[in-house]
Amino acid sequence: MIDVKDSEAVFLKLTRAEALVFFEWLARLDGGPGVPTEDPAEQQVLWRLEGQLESKLTEPVGPGYKEALEAARKSAAQKMPKKAEPKISRQDLCPCGSGKKFKDCHGAAALAED
Ligand SMILES: [Zn+2]
Repeated sequence: MIDVKDSEAVFLKLTRAEALVFFEWLARLDGGPGVPTEDPAEQQVLWRLEGQLESKLTEPVGPGYKEALEAARKSAAQKMPKKAEPKISRQDLCPCGSGKKFKDCHGAAALAED
């Protein structure tokens, strides 16, 4: 049997902005249709997370929560990774699967344009 240590804590790190965004999302789901869970343990873990967030965050019960949430959303969204363009180098195999180098295959025309 696999032993998952229930006595061992796992520490996660969120910025305050991220925690606020996460809290708002959880609270909204809980107040509406509820968070879909498959197992009672999942609901239990969710409540524990919500409880911990509630004890750390003062914004949701304070004035100006809407503004604080908007600022937190903006700040957290800025950290989203930008999609990187896949770079193909001249010496790489052509993505078309021909087995030829990019510069000798589909890259020939594209590279000539540069
Ligand atoms: Zn090709």
